[in-house]
Amino acid sequence: MDIKLQQVSFAYSMGTPFEKRALFDVDLMIPSKTYQAIIGHTGSGKSTILQHFNGLLKPSEGEVHIGDRVIVAGKKAKELKPIRQKVGIVFQFPEHQLFEETVLKDIMFGPMNFGVSEEEAKKRARELISLVGLPDSVLEKSPFDLSGGQMRRVAIAGVLALQPEVIVLDEPTAGLDPRGQREIMDMFYQLHKEQGLTTILVTHSMEDAAKYADNLAIMHEGRCVLTGTPREIFADGKTLESYRLELPRIIKFQQKIENLIGKKLSKICLTE
Ligand code: ADP
Repeated sequence: MDIKLQQVSFAYSMGTPFEKRALFDVDLMIPSKTYQAIIGHTGSGKSTILQHFNGLLKPSEGEVHIGDRVIVAGKKAKELKPIRQKVGIVFQFPEHQLFEETVLKDIMFGPMNFGVSEEEAKKRARELISLVGLPDSVLEKSPFDLSGGQMRRVAIAGVLALQPEVIVLDEPTAGLDPRGQREIMDMFYQLHKEQGLTTILVTHSMEDAAKYADNLAIMHEGRCVLTGTPREIFADGKTLESYRLELPRIIKFQQKIENLIGKKLSKICLTE
């Protein structure tokens, strides 16, 4: 399922004295089954754009195409329900949204709300708990008796339980220790590769963008100012600096070595 933004503009509190324009004429194409990273400085519009990917926000102007559906200003919330199932969003600190008595019930909540049978929802919960790296015994526990990292995994299982075709990740590893960060990022990458899950990562981490994404989009002051592969985007540190972003450490390291030996290395640091 491709996602395409065409000339999307968005203003918060439109038509009031508090009107705040957050997106300006954004064009972005995310082909099905690709891994897209969206990077940009704080306030550049990343969170605003990500809420357009499943209709949580509707454009003030322009069109959002999600598969064969088109979202334009004024579309009714009811028409957007099928889209919300197909595009799952893992918000920052998703564990804050856990609320059921047991982990099992929490993971089953989403699918049952979308009309999946109890039996099927249970089956999904059992499969997903191991996919997110937790033992079966966790299912009967209260989510609030788990560690922060375990709660994060349960919340992610809850989003995956809807079997989305597209997953949107908003800084999914914020607040985790380095090992937990790597495990979660590797898990999403594996899902992307093995199940062809279209993945959209909103991140501050240039490292993660370089390591995992097929394509990058740079947001700056509400505009999508640059798109390309990591190799293309990271070829030019000066342009990135002008958007208040830095090259990934691995590329900086390579450039240092090039300066030392006075010779250009082929870009060893990024996979094709
Ligand atoms: P980012 O995720 O890149 O930090 P945001 O999408 O959160 O950027 O913000 C883009 C712009 O919209 C910023 O200027 C921010 O202050 C503004 N903004 C974000 N949310 C709201 C809101 N609920 N009401 C008014 N302005 C907002």
